[in-house]
Amino acid sequence: MGAAIAAPCSFHALSRRHAERAPRACLLSAGDSAPRAAAGALALELCDLHAVGVDERLIDDLRGVTVAYPQWTARSTPGVTWLQGTLSPIPGLSDTALVTTKFPHDLSVAVESWAWWDMGVWIGPLHTNYGRGSICTHEIRHGTWVRGRDRLWQLLDLISVWVVRQMHVRYLGFWPGRQVLHTPEERLRDHLPGDLCGCDRLGLTFDACCRTRDEAHARTFRTVRPFPSRRPAPDVLTLAYTAV
Ligand SMILES: [Zn+2]
Repeated sequence: MGAAIAAPCSFHALSRRHAERAPRACLLSAGDSAPRAAAGALALELCDLHAVGVDERLIDDLRGVTVAYPQWTARSTPGVTWLQGTLSPIPGLSDTALVTTKFPHDLSVAVESWAWWDMGVWIGPLHTNYGRGSICTHEIRHGTWVRGRDRLWQLLDLISVWVVRQMHVRYLGFWPGRQVLHTPEERLRDHLPGDLCGCDRLGLTFDACCRTRDEAHARTFRTVRPFPSRRPAPDVLTLAYTAV
């Protein structure tokens, strides 16, 4: 199971700071429960985005988030809108993830998200991306979500499912369902007992599929290649916590 890495700020401190900053430039006010209630604050934000020439498709994308996730807030800085909100995906369970999403106004730049359990514990490294530790909701070649084709709220839905899978690991100790782990090193490092094999051959666990071959590979190629980092870089933490 992946190690829990503490973020420098606690969840409650973040939430408090978030609430303090929200009124000035917030897409949605915390506690808005209906799209109509959000419309006033949203109109101000969208006017600002119109004024600086942000693509109407992106503004419409943000509008869609306000309907699907009215509890989320957002704030725009030049070139980027930062969104933040909590997800408690299973009624009756207290598990709550605080999610920060970086939404660049340049359609050619990827949308990135990071998540923390309450108390500021970063959710990872399982199924996060190398380099910046952002959430990996799906295998890119599967085309599950594509920027410009699909809506942002649909990506947030995928993140909700990702949070549920992380809860599954938390409670039951293995990753539920299909997953893709490309290399023997990744499979040996990230597989938990009972996981389906990351080679994505449906229905076989890692033990019944690639483990023997991957272990032979590891014995043959004994050179240890350090893995790139998979945790939020300091600049991401700074940007995320000061922009929203
Ligand atoms: Zn396999």
